[in-house]
Amino acid sequence: MSYQKLLQKTCEAASDFLDNIDHRPVGRPVDFTALMKNMGGPLPARGEDPIHVMEHLRDTAAPGLVATPGPRYFGFVIGGSVPATLAAEWLASAWDQNAFCYVTSPAAAVTEEIVRTWLLDLFGLPEMSLGITTGATMANFTALAAARHALLKKAGWNVEEQGLFEAPPITVVTSDESHVSVFAALQMLGLGRKRVTRVPADDQGRMRADALGDALARVRTPFLVCAQAGNVNTGAFDPISEIARQVHECGGWLHIDGAFGLWAAASPEHRSKVAGIELADSIAVDAHKWLNVPYDSGLVFVRDQEAHHAAMTLNAPYYAPAPDVARENHNWVPEASRRARGFAIYAALRTLGKDGVAELVNRCCRLARRMADRLAEAPGLRIVNDVVLNQVLVQFSPPSGENGDAFTAEVIRRVQEDGTCWAGGTTWHGIHAMRISVSNWSTWENDIDVSASAIVHCHEAAAEQWPAGSAVGR
Ligand SMILES: *Cc1c(COP(=O)(O)O)cnc(C)c1O
Repeated sequence: MSYQKLLQKTCEAASDFLDNIDHRPVGRPVDFTALMKNMGGPLPARGEDPIHVMEHLRDTAAPGLVATPGPRYFGFVIGGSVPATLAAEWLASAWDQNAFCYVTSPAAAVTEEIVRTWLLDLFGLPEMSLGITTGATMANFTALAAARHALLKKAGWNVEEQGLFEAPPITVVTSDESHVSVFAALQMLGLGRKRVTRVPADDQGRMRADALGDALARVRTPFLVCAQAGNVNTGAFDPISEIARQVHECGGWLHIDGAFGLWAAASPEHRSKVAGIELADSIAVDAHKWLNVPYDSGLVFVRDQEAHHAAMTLNAPYYAPAPDVARENHNWVPEASRRARGFAIYAALRTLGKDGVAELVNRCCRLARRMADRLAEAPGLRIVNDVVLNQVLVQFSPPSGENGDAFTAEVIRRVQEDGTCWAGGTTWHGIHAMRISVSNWSTWENDIDVSASAIVHCHEAAAEQWPAGSAVGR
């Protein structure tokens, strides 16, 4: 069989989707059962023609696709894919490289090493090891595994060999606002989600350095601190320099979850927000968010390379590391076999360049500000956070002044149903709010204006019929 025809048709299907993404509803609700019925059915006994399979998937999946690569998806913190990264990702699939080790793909190993040096330069970081994980969750996991190794080693315990039972205790300090994935990492590492000291955060979600000082004064064991660059609701940054000073004065390990916020370091305009980042012992970042690389693409940087390596060690009798090879990819991540994630990151950095990454970050922040300004002009809308990065939180006031949370939820429902853009909800300091994240490479001023108008319109329509189910307007 020749690949040509199948891949050409697939290319048409993919370009059709992407070229028209601007003109489709972004993410309307869709019925699970109906989607199941169309896409599924019993497993066929006989295999089907590949072109038919691809076209069937293309057609039946369509209603269940969300326009996350498009310019008006503002949910969660989701970037799209810079075109060159999609191309590189296709090549990675066609090449079917196993990025496990040097002999399985010398090109994949070298690409990860190139990307490592480029990223250290871009972020202004000292020499650190890099692992390319599935996302920031596994990047947090890997970083905290390295921290666990280093802290217990100092206490005379080899955690990889001896496990945690009867190990000397270590203290884990998080912020009240640490991302759920930090707790997921702790639960997988045997460090416990609840067995942590939580430091209070301020009104924007920043860890309070004074409260950290109080907490550290009470710590009697080796410890690690998880701080954050980029709060998932407000976009706010913990005071990293001050936190780093305190942590290192007391001999602790500082981990920074900078899943999307670390990209501020790549912009001269926003870099001061992450001042002190170069002092971190480990950092988790996502490439699949703000760098706009396809999934799965997370990055973990660790300063103590020996600890990073030791925490991820894997040895097999059939595999001896090649001599004189500077990089074995599996030394830095939890997985063995995996796709060659470095190629897409390489393509992103090469097509954007330093200036392009900075422009992308600056533009998203500028557009978030623009969105906040447009929305704040409308009566009944309130911007809840200080818009310091790419995140905007909006609260909608009902005409009657009651049931504010239910009303905000109703406006969000209408915005999603409308399909001009997509934004989700969150709870921030006890109130329900719409959360808008601007992180796509293809978003421009016009997308913001059109979306802001749609949101204002949905708010007006909801107000007219509030409380929902009232006879007015029915
Ligand atoms: C998205 C996010 C994560 C989790 O990252 P995944 O790539 O989804 O695993 C962790 N921390 C923060 C601050 C995030 O925004």
